[in-house]
Amino acid sequence: MATAIDSPKAIDLRPGFQETESYRLLKENGVNVNLCYQCRKCASGCPLSELMDLTPTQIIHAVRLGLEDMALNSKTIWLCTSCETCTTRCPQGIDIAKVNSVLRILAHQRGVPSRVPSVAAFDMEFLRNMKIFGRVFELGLINQLKLRTWKFTQDMDLAAPMILKRKIGFLPTLAGFLKMRRLLRRLKIVIKNGAGGKA
Ligand code: SF4
Ligand code: SF4
Repeated sequence: MATAIDSPKAIDLRPGFQETESYRLLKENGVNVNLCYQCRKCASGCPLSELMDLTPTQIIHAVRLGLEDMALNSKTIWLCTSCETCTTRCPQGIDIAKVNSVLRILAHQRGVPSRVPSVAAFDMEFLRNMKIFGRVFELGLINQLKLRTWKFTQDMDLAAPMILKRKIGFLPTLAGFLKMRRLLRRLKIVIKNGAGGKA
């Protein structure tokens, strides 16, 4: 529901600030950062805020002010686990988890180096794994990560308990692999025919 604070005129703190790409992308994704009245409920509920350099509240404010570089170069967007605690707590219904996700994608597209490289490496390998196997193939993901980070012995003590609890699959599922092939094929057809085209 629109409120008085929803009026872009009322909060235009810097001429042209609405033109940043992050602002535009968020608007396209249904997130209106201008609704924020800085109550800080998001930051006080975030389980990771102590590790972040900017609180979720400050990220929202940076986007509003057009300080895109500050947001894209923050640790916060990489440390956010998308747990959505902030989103649930926000009295203005702002999807703060989505703000961090959009900023992370934008940082990746622009080649902004991640302030938390291990998270960026995990993101990339997780998506690569999903694209190939259709669902997470744990052993493959572990191997991909080790090769990317060269941390071959890190967390090795966790391997035995995880194997005993059957948390690590040794083989990918053929069904997942085939489903993902079909999905990607259909997606290509939809993209080729335009959004309104038939798969
Ligand atoms: S909880 Fe919502 S309104 Fe409050 S500071 Fe965070 S984003 Fe802004
Ligand atoms: S979604 Fe991200 S910013 Fe929000 S509470 Fe969870 S970790 Fe914190």
